[in-house]
Amino acid sequence: MKFQLRMIGSGSAFAKAYYNNNALVACNGYTLMIDCGILAPMALHKMNFPMNDIQGVLVTHLHADHIGGLEEYALRMKYMYQLRPSLYIEENLIEPLWDDSLKAGLRYTVEGESTLRDFFDVVPLKCDVRQEIQPGLSVELIRTKHFPNMPSYSVVLNDKVFYSGDMTFNRALLDEMFVRRQCVQVLHDCQLEGNGLVHSTLNELLSLPEEYQERILLMHYGDSMPDYMGKTGKMTFIEQHKPYEFLAAP
Ligand SMILES: [Zn+2]
Ligand SMILES: [Zn+2]
Repeated sequence: MKFQLRMIGSGSAFAKAYYNNNALVACNGYTLMIDCGILAPMALHKMNFPMNDIQGVLVTHLHADHIGGLEEYALRMKYMYQLRPSLYIEENLIEPLWDDSLKAGLRYTVEGESTLRDFFDVVPLKCDVRQEIQPGLSVELIRTKHFPNMPSYSVVLNDKVFYSGDMTFNRALLDEMFVRRQCVQVLHDCQLEGNGLVHSTLNELLSLPEEYQERILLMHYGDSMPDYMGKTGKMTFIEQHKPYEFLAAP
């Protein structure tokens, strides 16, 4: 089954030239948003992509460049469109997403006190379990390391496309994706400068064999990205808003 992926944004958390690293995955008439950062509503507006065309959102972790736009998404879906989109989220992140973030802005509504489930059809996901969320579209969350002790997840789409959450470099996991799982594409966060304390650096990714690099699209990059054009080995920077098609059988 083919699916189309468009980055709503491809920037790092502090990027100003690019929007937040969030994506739209379209398959069989269904559109899933992967993360909804603080800049996502503005980016969708620039793309002329109406929020009510997004039927579900998947959350990788709770940083603002990945969840900061959820309040607007929730309010618009409920009050402008009378819709209750699906929220795909690792089961242990459900309460923190509400208690530590969304509750502040969404708790008080004209109907009285609301909960997360008043805005979203919450679909808990288990780590390492492949779940078909729509016919032809499956997701599998994989716990990956970002900040110490912070739950953060990457996603495998239709068994064959790996989409990194924010993660530190993990060669063994990439071997697993490329060799055992035969992934056709890996979308990987890429920190251009500095050391890789909480992200994978370009230098670390350049240590990968060329046959891996050929299948890597770099994302979550900083504003200095143009300075690195031509310096990414066989890897390519993904372009925000541009549609990419992947052939990945579920
Ligand atoms: Zn991020
Ligand atoms: Zn992050």
